[in-house]
Amino acid sequence: MQIKDVQDDIAEELISHEALEGKIRRMAVKVSEDYEGKDPLLIAVLKGAANVMTTFSQAMTIPVEIDYMSLSTYGSGTRSAGKVTVRQDLSTDVAGRHVLIVEDIIDSGFTLDWLVNELKSRGAASVEIFAMLGKPARRKFDVPVKYKGFEIPDKFVVGYGLDYDERYRNLDSIAVLKPSVYQEVEKRATGSQTNQAE
Ligand code: 5GP
Ligand code: MG
Ligand code: MG
Repeated sequence: MQIKDVQDDIAEELISHEALEGKIRRMAVKVSEDYEGKDPLLIAVLKGAANVMTTFSQAMTIPVEIDYMSLSTYGSGTRSAGKVTVRQDLSTDVAGRHVLIVEDIIDSGFTLDWLVNELKSRGAASVEIFAMLGKPARRKFDVPVKYKGFEIPDKFVVGYGLDYDERYRNLDSIAVLKPSVYQEVEKRATGSQTNQAE
């Protein structure tokens, strides 16, 4: 799906499909050089990072193993907060493995801070992060992101895996929604709810 298909909901396109995939692929080639001979394990948090994982892993030039995890957090709508619980765990034992987390976006850093600590406590030999997007203005947890895609302003974005209320994940670029779209949904949701965090 492209911007033109949801034109009425979009305030602005932030990163085009071509710019996004060009950057992800270049980073994947660089990361492949760094992990040559290390048999890395790539981990993505569902659902948001599934798209970037596919593009990124296909552009790598070395064989890798891939696994997914599903997490949930408490909070509402456009902010993650509180407590992380594992909904669906990895099927891989990470002990002794060189792990690269492939992430859609780092916002406060809460989720990644939790995940890095979790993987280290399971005995990973190393844990690094590739994040397609980062919002430096909102960082609260000091998580070292070794491989960064794009830095974006403090705006809620959708597309390329990122949703709002489970929609827009299949948009092929990164865009900002019109405030009216999420105001409408938040009006319907009352109070606190359990969300699929990623
Ligand atoms: P953090 O724990 O770093 O605050 O947030 C991480 C998660 O919150 C992301 O993986 C993503 O699921 C969600 N998130 C943060 N910012 C945005 C955003 O601008 N758009 C969307 N769709 N999700 C976001
Ligand atoms: Mg989400
Ligand atoms: Mg994510």
